[in-house]
Amino acid sequence: MRFEVLTLFPEMLTGVFESSIIGRANQAGLISVACTDIRSFTKDKHRRVDDTPYGGGYGMVMQCQPVVDCIRAVKASLTGSTRVIYMSPQGRLFDNKVVKELASYDNLVLLCGHYEGIDERIIELEVDEELSVGNYVLTGGELAAAIVVDAVARTVEGVLPANECFEDESLEGGLLEYPQYTRPRVFEGLEVPEVLLGGNHALIAKWRAERSLERTVKKRPDLLKKDTEDEK
Ligand code: SAM
Repeated sequence: MRFEVLTLFPEMLTGVFESSIIGRANQAGLISVACTDIRSFTKDKHRRVDDTPYGGGYGMVMQCQPVVDCIRAVKASLTGSTRVIYMSPQGRLFDNKVVKELASYDNLVLLCGHYEGIDERIIELEVDEELSVGNYVLTGGELAAAIVVDAVARTVEGVLPANECFEDESLEGGLLEYPQYTRPRVFEGLEVPEVLLGGNHALIAKWRAERSLERTVKKRPDLLKKDTEDEK
């Protein structure tokens, strides 16, 4: 799967995409993550990519020409199914269902706005969907795009060591994951639950299922409500 992030600030994302699991998957060719600098497409002799809004008001708006040319050039380099997404506080809220939906594409093109955002005609001409990472406003779309790349990339086969990584994970099956412990057995007087030390897999599975439900009720009761609503 290929991720193309279109941004005025590629340097904001280099560390994120070169590190840890995403960095290794990119190097191993399991996914491909690239950033394209929108500014390199401007035809303005001063390399400008933004201008003041028509009708007045605060801030600057990213212009059509460099952004549209950038999207078209990147799209022309892709084969297979492609979705062009504008990261925006006005978009559909990004969640685990959207992760799975987006994972079915061969390519995701993630457009990052900055300043007051982008000229509306870019959305009309080239954007398939707007996505928001939460009900707050960021200074730019880069951190939002990084969230989308990370969450979708980890579902690509081979990126995580085994499919079991997903099975009990939070939000899979509508529940939060059970509590996890590692060595030492006792830390500052707090002991690892006895059942996890006994090696009885049936008992461990039962204990984990109970704790999953218990902590979902306590921390995220909305998930249980959502599940019953989805079934209706
Ligand atoms: N003036 C815009 C509005 O009110 O809708 C907000 C512009 S915001 C300051 C600059 C850029 O940050 C946006 O173009 C978008 O790409 C990104 N951004 C801000 N909040 C976001 C969010 N919650 N999810 C995704 N992207 C976001």
